[in-house]
Amino acid sequence: MLLEGKKALIMGLANNRSIAFGIASALKEHGARLAFNYVGEAIKKRVEPISQELGGEFTFQCDVSDDGQIKDAVDLVRERWGTFDILVHSIAFANREDLGGRFIDTTRQGFRVAMEISVYSLTALCRAFENLFNPDASVITMTYLGANRVIPGYNVMGVAKAALEASVRYLAADLGPKSIRVNAVSAGPIKTLAASAVSSFKDSFNYMETHAPLRRNVTAADVGGAAVFLASDLGRSVTGEVLYVDSGFNCVGAG
Ligand code: NAP
Repeated sequence: MLLEGKKALIMGLANNRSIAFGIASALKEHGARLAFNYVGEAIKKRVEPISQELGGEFTFQCDVSDDGQIKDAVDLVRERWGTFDILVHSIAFANREDLGGRFIDTTRQGFRVAMEISVYSLTALCRAFENLFNPDASVITMTYLGANRVIPGYNVMGVAKAALEASVRYLAADLGPKSIRVNAVSAGPIKTLAASAVSSFKDSFNYMETHAPLRRNVTAADVGGAAVFLASDLGRSVTGEVLYVDSGFNCVGAG
């Protein structure tokens, strides 16, 4: 088992279609111990049964837009685990009206909320948990090709993912001397709750099947496999990286 006894905090599981579900299942399969956050009481009812199904050791409330909740999460993790090994950040949010139409119409408020929740939260969590990471810890976040290419409708989230990928590089530089690695997985389109908010999602999903080198879409389990690699000793010299799990779509120039 590649992750025997490693402790993994999974942040961003909404339901069993979430990418975080695929990651958590794969980490568990390789021996990791798990804990999950939820955003509010209503979501807790959805997260707890899934946590039980995956043998999660505890759940905790953490809305990443609230510094007080991040601090409470750190206190709880310190109390329950002392230190830990893997942080999965699988969180994003933008207002639905900013995920369609023209990017140029993004409002100041819409831009701010997308950046705060989808980008800044990674830095806030890395800083908050910095002293709880074991040596050789691995932080994994989720990104998308819309960071580098124009994907119709992805709009402000594309700008957010570009900033997230840059954050990964700066965080890797800050935390590398402590042997803590920070990487992103750039996944192809997967049918989840968050994806359903993007107006053009169906088109991107269908396009993959005819234009990606592997001629198929990816699954959350595929992302889980990449996460196991990044979290384990197999990825011990990989940091500051964006690993594409997209059936090779990112390398295609013309269809
Ligand atoms: P998902 O199941 O809807 O997961 C998104 C998660 O973000 C949810 O658990 C959501 O919590 C959480 N979240 C939103 N605002 C939050 C806040 N303020 N504090 C804490 N958590 C918050 O969708 P997903 O597709 O798996 O998304 C996971 C990650 O993968 C995102 O970063 C997304 O951009 C990325 N990604 C997705 C795709 C795709 O095609 N699906 C492709 C590439 C990358 P609640 O639901 O409880 O609010």
